[in-house]
Amino acid sequence: MLLSVAVRRPNPAIAAALSSRFLLRRREQHALLEAQPLEKPSLQSLVLSQYQNAKFHGILQNVVASPSVLLTACNNLRRHFPDSPTLTSGSVSANFFSIEELSSQLATNSLDVESCCVHLHPHSPTGTPLVVPNLKLKVVLEAFRLVLEAIYDDRFVTFAYGGRPNLGRHTAVRYLKNSIENPTWLFSVAFDNNEFFGSKQVEKLCSILGEKIEDDALLDLIRTFYVCRVISFDLSCPVFGRGLPQECTLTSILINIYFHSFDKEIQEFRLEMNKSNPKFHENELVLEDSNSGSVFYKPLKIYAVRYLDEILIMTSGTKTFTMDLKNRIVKFLEQILHLKVDRQRTVIHSAVSEKILFMGMELRAVAPSVIRPPMTEKAKRARKKYLRQKEVRLMELKNARERNRKKLGMKLLKHVFKKQKQSNGFKFNFSIENEVRQIFRTWADEVVTEYLTSVEDDRWEWHRKLSSGDFLSLPRIRDQLPRELVDAYDNFQRQVDKYLKPTKAKKELEREARIREEEEEQKYAQKTIQDLARRCFKVDAPLDLIRRAIRLVGFTNHMGRPRPLSFLTVLDDEDIIKWYAGVGRRFLDFFCCCNNFRKVKIIVSYHLRFSCILTLAEKHEATKRETMRHFTKDLKLSSDDGSEVILFPSEKEVKMMGDKWLSDPKPVDGALSMVLIRLASDEPCQRCVAHFCDRTDTVFYRIELLQRYLNVDPLDEQRWVPLMGAIHDSLHRKCAPLCPDHISELYLGRLSLQDIDCASLDNID
Ligand SMILES: [Zn+2]
Repeated sequence: MLLSVAVRRPNPAIAAALSSRFLLRRREQHALLEAQPLEKPSLQSLVLSQYQNAKFHGILQNVVASPSVLLTACNNLRRHFPDSPTLTSGSVSANFFSIEELSSQLATNSLDVESCCVHLHPHSPTGTPLVVPNLKLKVVLEAFRLVLEAIYDDRFVTFAYGGRPNLGRHTAVRYLKNSIENPTWLFSVAFDNNEFFGSKQVEKLCSILGEKIEDDALLDLIRTFYVCRVISFDLSCPVFGRGLPQECTLTSILINIYFHSFDKEIQEFRLEMNKSNPKFHENELVLEDSNSGSVFYKPLKIYAVRYLDEILIMTSGTKTFTMDLKNRIVKFLEQILHLKVDRQRTVIHSAVSEKILFMGMELRAVAPSVIRPPMTEKAKRARKKYLRQKEVRLMELKNARERNRKKLGMKLLKHVFKKQKQSNGFKFNFSIENEVRQIFRTWADEVVTEYLTSVEDDRWEWHRKLSSGDFLSLPRIRDQLPRELVDAYDNFQRQVDKYLKPTKAKKELEREARIREEEEEQKYAQKTIQDLARRCFKVDAPLDLIRRAIRLVGFTNHMGRPRPLSFLTVLDDEDIIKWYAGVGRRFLDFFCCCNNFRKVKIIVSYHLRFSCILTLAEKHEATKRETMRHFTKDLKLSSDDGSEVILFPSEKEVKMMGDKWLSDPKPVDGALSMVLIRLASDEPCQRCVAHFCDRTDTVFYRIELLQRYLNVDPLDEQRWVPLMGAIHDSLHRKCAPLCPDHISELYLGRLSLQDIDCASLDNID
């Protein structure tokens, strides 16, 4: 680890003197007002108060070191915990470490980072140790992240996703699906993993930070984090944004800051091209269909999506154009950002004829009809049947209404008749005459209007009777009759035609049907043309990789059928179901935005569910049928108070699941590659290792890693599944005291090892 700046080792004497003086001053200040966690706007204004002459000053001393910011960081670290009350500075100081002391250490730049790091040693002789920060240092890292987010997040471009509020994977997928038109060529940038981010890049990062933040102490501390390997970019496994314990949350924002100038470059290039590409260009007008003569305007466009260190560039231009763009981008990344691009793997793909893996999903440009296929004949028939049934139901309702009216009418008449007979005239205590008249009038009106607009046979009949063969229409007779009578007759005939001849109504009906048909034809034509002319992205879950992953873990046998997982049989029934539920839910959350989500649902609802049932059967030495009778297909558990709990998503629930936009779910890796095994130990109860949990009703659990159980090295591309991350080897067989709530959350995949204090894990034999 050669770096020009050595680890800052504070002079203990000076530091102590400074810190005690500082502490006194701070204590005086804060005796009056205990620190409160900050809401986003307050943090923003605190950061902005340090802005002077186009730069931020004294960020470490005045913002990061502020007890309120540190307390906000503490609360953030346990934000994922269910129903946790807000931490106060008093409760943190009483149970964990003194916020005041940490604040003064940061303000006087006397924090000894090295002593806050714990080195976990790997099991394999070739592995590198994992450095994990203790809880205190984690708070500092989170405070750094918060403050950097307040400074930078507004400046980031719109296509930078990951590690940002509301701009996660699913938002990126929505952009890919909805906003990109007619991509032709694309490429993703692959970095040389072994040399991705070293000391040279850290220096560059500090100089980038220095452009906005004038604070040597802060930059030195970031260098120290890197030297102590608390933040590490040197990763050979896919690791960013996965919730694995070896990833520090501060790295996400540092990556975004590092790539900001790259994002800007792309943005500028796009602007440049829009300018040089004004409105229309003759060769952009494509004559798609010679018969209809439709002309399409296809402007040349560049699209980009960056999810942390994953970069995808798409164009609607030619291959040569895309090639030039690629060269320009690679040059920028290598020369300006000093990153080593793996040129072998950074190649151009056709958007239409090749699939590309990005953010753990498969992308391919397809015709719109592939994504929304036209109705099949069977579906059309079903729809017709449904419409017919609806019509019949309507008719039945109408008939029922008429029947009721008739009954009611008869009742009314009978009543009136009886009254009249009894009393020779109407003598009511109250008058309902008007109401009755009103009711009859509306009924009558309705019936008349309906009749006069209907095309029923008896209307024809009536019209025929009234208009045909009358002697008054014979000219010989008409001549002999008085003029008034003939006129009155003609007028009558006109009115009969006007009101009783159903031709008009019939014509209207025919016209409506014709319009509908025309519209449908037009829609079909438009769809067909669009299908020929438009391409958009289809985002799929990589089913091959998912199938390989579930096969690797052992959910399925070589035939692809569910099988039991023997290594889970040592767990309680509840924990087995929770473990499966955690894995299943992570799969469902991660791939819910995919066009082939239905297939992922089958994997969870069938393969995982039955693997769970078979595991329970193996544990209890029962048959599958007996197990299903006991737990039901929905894997119900009865709790102590007799109520039933369903933790694994039920078949019905899975069926109803759809797209949940705007979330940034963690991939399944962390949940899939770890099992926590309860230990029977005589150790005295210890405090729960989940961040800031002060419960002591804990039980020891041992972390068992999948790669160790399977004896497969995650770096072995032949045997391990590509793109699947793995928890760092050094955590294998580490033991963690956990309270009932947090072990449950870990099993259910809602917490990851990132949410627990890995520095205080034990080794128990
Ligand atoms: Zn706990």
